[in-house]
Amino acid sequence: MANIILTGDRPTGRLHIGHYVGSLRRRVELQNSGKFDKIFIMIADAQALTDNADNPQKVRENILEVALDYLSAGLDPEKSVIFIQSMVSELTEITFFYNNLVTVQRLQRNPTVKAEIQMRNFNDSEDADNKAGTPVGFFCYPISQAADITAFKANVVPAGEDQKPMVEQTREIVRKFNSTYAPVLVEPDILLPEEAVCQRLPGTDGKAKMSKSLGNCIYLSDSAEEVVRKVKGMFTDPGHLQVSDPGKVEGNTVFTYLDAFCKDEHFEKFGSCFIGKKVSFEFHNLEEVKAQYRAGGLGDMMIKNFLAAVLNDTLEPIRVRRKELEQNIPYVYEVLRKGSEIACREAAQTLKEIKAAMKINYFDPGVLEELIETQQHKYSE
Ligand code: ATP
Ligand code: MG
Repeated sequence: MANIILTGDRPTGRLHIGHYVGSLRRRVELQNSGKFDKIFIMIADAQALTDNADNPQKVRENILEVALDYLSAGLDPEKSVIFIQSMVSELTEITFFYNNLVTVQRLQRNPTVKAEIQMRNFNDSEDADNKAGTPVGFFCYPISQAADITAFKANVVPAGEDQKPMVEQTREIVRKFNSTYAPVLVEPDILLPEEAVCQRLPGTDGKAKMSKSLGNCIYLSDSAEEVVRKVKGMFTDPGHLQVSDPGKVEGNTVFTYLDAFCKDEHFEKFGSCFIGKKVSFEFHNLEEVKAQYRAGGLGDMMIKNFLAAVLNDTLEPIRVRRKELEQNIPYVYEVLRKGSEIACREAAQTLKEIKAAMKINYFDPGVLEELIETQQHKYSE
């Protein structure tokens, strides 16, 4: 079986460090591992419109922002096909057929969609103008995601933890399709980040998930000064009032980010800025820092300075590449146009197989002749 990746992002804003540790960093590693036959990275504009139907301009503009973030973070169009979802109309057709394989009750059990409906206040009772309430397209987006994954016969989906129910739903659709019609589709597996903290990075406000829609993000394209400002504004342990007080590491977002980003080499690089005025290395790794914080005697400002330095160290090369790419916008759109062309060809092939399995390929070569013959036979008896 071929080794194929499909994953993507909604163009609802620039990409943030949650995307980076949850999926993007891994994608780049997988891309460069040479272990995959094909890699498809999708900018999910049609999905973004399911809860932004009244704001097409936002979605349109963010397609470029996400593409810039991809290329700056190291996705290489020579190795990965980067494409725009709505340009592949086959995906919509496949979704339409999968709709028949999923029940409303099953969709209602999806915990991610449930949480997202809550977050967007879609649950408020429907008013006369139909302003509140859940858009049908939004409610059904797990089905459209199943179409995206299976259209490319992807067996691996690198994503954050919130995508687990989507991949599970996809597997169910695949099993149902293959047993009802013919074994055309491939059952995918989610590939979660190894470290638990990276599976769902919290927001700078300490909320459960950093999310473009919640405005609690550190963006890959934030300037070094913005990163410092955002880190300084973060909550730590509310009980850690004096430097000498013992502090809590668990649930302290500053430490969560350090868990996701800090490497031992950062201590050699930034030890001095971390310990403040004293230029000596008191710590060699994060475990030592945590032990000191728990015991008391380590100020929040010092930890924050260190975190900002670590984040900026990771983001600086991405920022530099982005600045270059921002000067070459036609190139970025050309990458998307070419990628979308390739994606169309791939999805069209799968759609052909899907239609044949569902017996809705009436006019395919050879099929019509056979159809005429059998139906004619019925009436000539
Ligand atoms: P939106 O609020 O519009 O849904 P989002 O910030 O949730 O945006 P998505 O485009 O929905 O981003 O998610 C893209 C990918 O990034 C998915 O694989 C998702 O699991 C991952 N991801 C998003 N947010 C986080 C996070 N805070 N931590 C880890 N992974 C994340
Ligand atoms: Mg999301």
